Amino acid sequence: MWNSRKVGILGGGQLGRMLVESCNRLNIQANVLDAENSPAKQISFHDGHVTGSFKEREAVRQLAKSCDVMTAEIEHVDTYALEEVASEVQVEPSWQAIRTIQNKFNQKEHLRQYGIPMADHRELVKNTSEELAEIGQQLGYPLMLKSKTMAYDGRGNFRVNSKEDIPEALEALKDRPLYAEKWAYFKMELAVMVIKTKDEVLSYPTVETVQEDSICKLVYAPARNVSNKINEQAQALARKAVAAFEGKGAFGVEMFLLEDDSLMLCEIASRIHNSGHYTIEGCALSQFDSHIRAILDLPIPAKSLEIRQPSIMLNIIGGSAPDTHLKAAEAALSIPNAAIHLYSKGAAKPGRKMGHITVTAATMHEAETMIQPLIDVVDNIRA
Ligand code: ATP
Ligand code: MG
Ligand code: MG
Repeated sequence: MWNSRKVGILGGGQLGRMLVESCNRLNIQANVLDAENSPAKQISFHDGHVTGSFKEREAVRQLAKSCDVMTAEIEHVDTYALEEVASEVQVEPSWQAIRTIQNKFNQKEHLRQYGIPMADHRELVKNTSEELAEIGQQLGYPLMLKSKTMAYDGRGNFRVNSKEDIPEALEALKDRPLYAEKWAYFKMELAVMVIKTKDEVLSYPTVETVQEDSICKLVYAPARNVSNKINEQAQALARKAVAAFEGKGAFGVEMFLLEDDSLMLCEIASRIHNSGHYTIEGCALSQFDSHIRAILDLPIPAKSLEIRQPSIMLNIIGGSAPDTHLKAAEAALSIPNAAIHLYSKGAAKPGRKMGHITVTAATMHEAETMIQPLIDVVDNIRA
């Protein structure tokens, strides 16, 4: 039967949980590899889950035995374990794609061969002040010093404003493999969710993302005050970048829109992505639905990826107290058209993504008006 193949998911956080929601609606069994009672497992009762970590080879092997197609909600997985099991089970996207993408420097070196525009960057090999000072002379200041690996929510980035900041920057990111990026003077950050199927590269419309302290705060879908031409160009760039990788599924592509209206790639994620959460309410098929369909070779009508109503997504981030995220969700209970998603991660830590809210409306202006009180609440509970 079309829905009888079992999906194995590396990681049971909020992204895994939303993938399971999509699987559940199609009676597809999703086996999750993560800690006991992780958010994805809480909504999926069967005995196919695996307890352990997506960084442990043995646990990945065990998951491979229990499923037909394996996928990941996170790129920081053991790709050597994936490589080993790829002969027994289908891995989507490919372990090669995940391995290249999980190292942001390698990702950029790979994409360079495909002519994808990016901020100029240099690898550090010695991680010394002299080396970074030399790079600073080449790239100019400010520059962004970045960890090549294990980066998320800006943890792994350090803005270097001048030569004087170098010791502090190297201290902050010490013992990590590093590269430096020329500063991108963007007027807006854009993102596109791309769905790679067995024979097509599809994309959702271009959205606008707003980062605060390097963490995604808001997503406006479609991007506001962006011409159709730029919307199309951003989608084309995102599809071209994703086409450079093997395998099926959702990829999140982050971009900078520069002052002269040119586009630059910021980075790619080899998975469903925070910038695509609005698709749950905003589109006929969510990014999670599309990801599952793509990896199982089920049909994805391109029309189902269009935005049905302007949507705004607001992240609920852990604040100063363990329950502040619940206050934000409580305020959303009274907002018209607000869909609330709490991730059931337990007690909040400052900066941790605890949930999100999506407001849809007939016009973007109306959605902005409806969500403003929630943005005020979220701003007040920040750590
Ligand atoms: P994510 O959670 O999206 O995986 P990350 O930790 O991998 O984040 P990046 O996406 O590289 O980090 O950067 C986070 C944010 O920092 C960007 O969205 C952007 O706002 C800012 N940023 C990154 N690189 C640059 C740059 N070269 N110039 C200016 N700002 C930048
Ligand atoms: Mg990243
Ligand atoms: Mg990013």
